[in-house]
Amino acid sequence: MSFDQPLAKSLSPSRLGDFQTCPRRYQYASVERIPQPASYATTKGRFVHFIFEQLFHLEAPDRTGECARTFVPRAIDAILSEEVRTDIALDDAMLDRLLRETSDIIDSYFEMEDPRLVKNEGVELRLGVEIDGTPLFGILDRLDRDDEGNLNIIDYKTGALPNRNYDSQTFANAELYAALCDAKLGERPTKIRLLYVAHGQSIERSVSEVVVRARCQAASQAWTRIRRYYDDGDFPATPSKSACRFCSYQEICRASGVAVPR
Ligand code: SF4
Repeated sequence: MSFDQPLAKSLSPSRLGDFQTCPRRYQYASVERIPQPASYATTKGRFVHFIFEQLFHLEAPDRTGECARTFVPRAIDAILSEEVRTDIALDDAMLDRLLRETSDIIDSYFEMEDPRLVKNEGVELRLGVEIDGTPLFGILDRLDRDDEGNLNIIDYKTGALPNRNYDSQTFANAELYAALCDAKLGERPTKIRLLYVAHGQSIERSVSEVVVRARCQAASQAWTRIRRYYDDGDFPATPSKSACRFCSYQEICRASGVAVPR
């Protein structure tokens, strides 16, 4: 078959992750662009990211917890669209839960750092650049300048704490962001901080040139395969328990004959 839709112009770290997990998922999400319904977890993530984004648009001295809470009504308008409300079957009890958990996250975030002291160089920073013939694009939650004058990538996480045995996977997206910064801004960040705001814990990793180089090579190889599968008109499915468990395309896959684990 051939696709009606054009191939995406660039590859983002999350779409790269889709492809590496299962090329068919990339086909559905990024080529056929079949919408993925919102879930409570993704909605909470977008809700909290929206509030922190607004907070960091303020001048540093104004970034207080009280100010953060004033963005909640705006987050309700911006994030809880009719479509999202339908997808997650939002009712009063769920809205109460979302607001309560958001409030707890704001509290725990302010115990992690004082945003009034953060030297911030970018919020929701959109970076697109071609590296080794691969068009990459990403949106960084935050880019900070630390006390030593170095750039740090900051990524908010609203989910569970990661298994530290899989740090390589946990930091994969952010390491590709580091490559984007290096290529676009001419300066490679020295540190990545993942802020697990629901748990009040951050995990950090230094940026290594070797690792960043390897991330770029992996992206390049994936882009070559993406173009080949696109020309072939088929992205192979690689079903597995871990890949399929949270995939929204299970029914489509089963209908096309893929043995998706139950
Ligand atoms: S259900 Fe499994 S096999 Fe199908 S697209 Fe998703 S991850 Fe791939």
